[in-house]
Amino acid sequence: MKRKRVVVLGATGSIGESAAKVARDIPERVEIVGLAANSKARELAAQANELRPGAVCIVDETKLGELRANLKYQPEIFSGETGLCEIASTVASDMVLVAIVGTGGLRPALAAIKAGKDLAVASKEILVMAGEIVMRESREKEVHVLPVDSEHNAIFQCLEGRISQSNKRPTSNAQHPTSNAETSALGVRCSAFDVSDVRRIILTASGGPFRETPANRFPGITVEQALKHPTWNMGQKITIDSATLFNKGLEMIEAHWLFGVGMAQVEVVIHPQSIVHSMVEFADGSVLELSHSNMCFPIQYAITWPDRVPNSLPPLDFGELAELKFARPRYDDFPALGLARRAGETGGTLPAVLNAANEIAVSAFLEKRMSFPQIWQTVEQVMDAHESVAQPDLDEILRADYWARAEAGRHAKTLNR
Ligand code: NAD
Ligand code: MG
Repeated sequence: MKRKRVVVLGATGSIGESAAKVARDIPERVEIVGLAANSKARELAAQANELRPGAVCIVDETKLGELRANLKYQPEIFSGETGLCEIASTVASDMVLVAIVGTGGLRPALAAIKAGKDLAVASKEILVMAGEIVMRESREKEVHVLPVDSEHNAIFQCLEGRISQSNKRPTSNAQHPTSNAETSALGVRCSAFDVSDVRRIILTASGGPFRETPANRFPGITVEQALKHPTWNMGQKITIDSATLFNKGLEMIEAHWLFGVGMAQVEVVIHPQSIVHSMVEFADGSVLELSHSNMCFPIQYAITWPDRVPNSLPPLDFGELAELKFARPRYDDFPALGLARRAGETGGTLPAVLNAANEIAVSAFLEKRMSFPQIWQTVEQVMDAHESVAQPDLDEILRADYWARAEAGRHAKTLNR
């Protein structure tokens, strides 16, 4: 069993911190060789001082001095957006964990794929924006794309025995001398699944803090209320996305690209306890599901895959689980799900537009410039105004992203709260 060398992008965030926990827990299996963050220089230095990666990167170049001053050893230092792509592609590693909030992870993820690195993807936004390109390039480069998002990690665990046998990787791959391809029992890319007998993928959603709030109270929802997630402790953006259900909407599109299923096969069910992470229903009606509400589990499995490694995490106590509940989402009250389905079905640049408009609307809500329902109203308005470009290349996607941000920003300025 090999030790995986991992570069973590978004090291100071909630996923980045959980990845550090995994590395501390099973150091014989995980070696952090690179850490990157946006601007929290002190936190980045503290993590680096403990984990001692050979390379660190700070995107905000004004924080370089602070980073240097707080480092107690001398790693290679990268900076800026170029530095982010460099740490993802030039450092000797087996895998890059992309845990950057928003769209900033797209270019470094593509750079990592080009350099033949396996990807562990937490940043669902990059698959929403450019799922087709990310998956196509990963297939061309024969790298694995391993989902970290808990639902998708669960689905992956249900489907992993069904990795398409027609996509066997060569047993010796010069570009991949250290990847797990040679040691993997499967020896195939995990981005191509045989889903011919999959009837439905059912993503579970906690329903967020407003699961039972009547829609007529939505306009009065405060930032503080929206930031209180009932079951998960996460970064601010994904927490607001969980309250509007845009998170689940983004995850529907993420599942469509990761597993190669049609949008019509991806459904959502409300499950307040967040114990059953997701389900796969097969042609014969059998349903497989997996459990646990601690991000260390999916992060560890994405890193150690295909091996299962003992850890110090507490096992699930089924005796303690009083009741598991499931319910249909309130589609009319939470339009995010319908908007995401529309974006995923239309395809082209529309998912990138939904994603970008949502990012701007969430920041405006967090800055108290927009009400809670105005988040999806803004997204819908921007989507309506967009003419989607079919099969876009990266430039077209980035242009649509840029346009949608400007459009959402303009819309936000016209609003009266
Ligand atoms: P967070 O806000 O806690 O952390 C974000 C990290 O990204 C920070 O390290 C920050 O420095 C970095 N970052 C932000 N903008 C950047 C940029 N332009 N360039 C480089 N680095 C940048 O976010 P999080 O909750 O850890 O979420 C990260 C990603 O993982 C998101 O895409 C989220 O949807 C996804 N995700 C998170 C969870 C969770 O439990 N937190 C679960 C599933 C998926
Ligand atoms: Mg999730």
